[in-house]
Amino acid sequence: MRLIDAHTHLDAMAQRGGVTADDAFVAEVMAEARTAGVVAAITVGDTVASSRWCVAAATAHPDVYAAVAVHPTEIDGLDDAGYAELERLARDPRVVAVGETGLDYYWDRTEPAAQQAHFRRHIALAKAVGKPLMIHDRDAHADVLRILREEGAPDLVVFHAFSGDVEMARECVRAGYVLSFPGVITFKNAPGLREAAGQVPLDRLLVETDAPFLTPHPHRGKPNAPSLLPLTATALASAVGVDVETLAEAVMSNGRRVFGLDEN
Ligand SMILES: [Zn+2]
Repeated sequence: MRLIDAHTHLDAMAQRGGVTADDAFVAEVMAEARTAGVVAAITVGDTVASSRWCVAAATAHPDVYAAVAVHPTEIDGLDDAGYAELERLARDPRVVAVGETGLDYYWDRTEPAAQQAHFRRHIALAKAVGKPLMIHDRDAHADVLRILREEGAPDLVVFHAFSGDVEMARECVRAGYVLSFPGVITFKNAPGLREAAGQVPLDRLLVETDAPFLTPHPHRGKPNAPSLLPLTATALASAVGVDVETLAEAVMSNGRRVFGLDEN
């Protein structure tokens, strides 16, 4: 089985582990991932500084790609100069998406109106650079879908850590979006998410860790890592009703198509 981790945070993994996020750390994480069949990962920025780090990591490691953006809960202080740097980073050939961006109504530390304005600006950025939009949507399904409609969605939209129900999954499929499922799909208490995944055609699915967060069962409570992705892929395959090899082939080919990845 070969897999691509469609969304991870290698810098946050290092921080969580109390170690330096240097090339040796990235090489070690990716070597461990490869042993588990995970041949590539997209490391995702959540601030301008983190985005800069992600581009450097992707430049130094052929099996690492980058996504750049400022997370909806980190937008305070993001100004024109910040957007200019994000755009410069987003145009880097190692950057495969603009994200993660979107809306987060769970943590009430950032005004929804401000989040929405910055989400619109990130949508415009994805269109300007011609790269997929990678969406963070926490407790904000209706507003995320509405703003995508109002702005006109970029050609490629990926919902990272999809958390909607059956109806929302259907709506995303109708709109042409790609849905990426995290370790939550392995949780006993997530039958609704498995049911939602069952609505998604194979050619619209991705699988991700969001490491160091959303650790799959039975490792909950420990930090997540790309090497644990097969657990999530296995649970997603059974939710979709295919064997894990079929699922893995689909997400490899989807990852290459959506993000324009090289052969890994
Ligand atoms: Zn994330």
